[in-house]
Amino acid sequence: MRLGCHLSVAKGFATAAKVAPTLGANAFQYFTKNPRGFRNAKPLNREDAERGRRLMQELDLVAIGHTPYLINLAAADDELYHVSIAALVQDLVIAEARGTYGVVVHCGKPKDRGRDWGIERMQHALRQVLDQNRTEGVQILVENTAGQGSEIGASLDELLAIVAPFAPHDVGICFDTQHAFAAGMMTRENPGAFPGFDHPDFMRRLTAIHLNDSKVAFAAHKDRHELIGQGALGLDGIARIVNDPRLADIPFYLETPVNQETQYADEIATVKSLIEHTR
Ligand SMILES: [Zn+2]
Ligand SMILES: [Zn+2]
Repeated sequence: MRLGCHLSVAKGFATAAKVAPTLGANAFQYFTKNPRGFRNAKPLNREDAERGRRLMQELDLVAIGHTPYLINLAAADDELYHVSIAALVQDLVIAEARGTYGVVVHCGKPKDRGRDWGIERMQHALRQVLDQNRTEGVQILVENTAGQGSEIGASLDELLAIVAPFAPHDVGICFDTQHAFAAGMMTRENPGAFPGFDHPDFMRRLTAIHLNDSKVAFAAHKDRHELIGQGALGLDGIARIVNDPRLADIPFYLETPVNQETQYADEIATVKSLIEHTR
């Protein structure tokens, strides 16, 4: 089983790769750029990327990048829209240099333009990114949302509609359990009933799961992660998800609100204690 967490790359990507196994992680996620701002991003440190890449091979790790939250691929504002496209193109370069297989991007927010317009706008953005992309082996991972405000991608139909025009090796899916629960598409009692897990196109594209408990109730439409077992999904909800045999080969990444990174060791140990069979 692949299980890990979100790690800081403030001290370099190679440092994050070194830290992962000390927490019991064999997978990790990192921010490609400062999560709250991306206009003045630091240039890619190729040497650090290469060192991290070699460490990942030695330590048997996999990793994915996560784009800054300000990226909005369905932005009505043209400037933000084009900056978002350019930022994602650049993030694919960063991910490739670091030997990481995917870059997660949230479904966009079209504000008052409406959902259909937003879906088309986001597809157009993804097409432009892929046209400009010169990297190989890095997948764009579209993440489902909690459906907060005008966010699109809070239902299985919308998520599949967004990715449908693209080849699965170009555009995959990252499934966030908190977002799915808060969007009202996956329950605590029977998360396995989420129809995506039986949908061939969804499963073909699913290459990352964000494993998070929820601070908010089912269908609350808010993006609020909670520590494993301490939220509305609870240990039983999380246990049902991680023991679903259909998800056995998908890497799980924790993005829970720890006070410091070392606390992820406890979070990972908690998840491992819920696994019924050794895989
Ligand atoms: Zn995310
Ligand atoms: Zn997430």
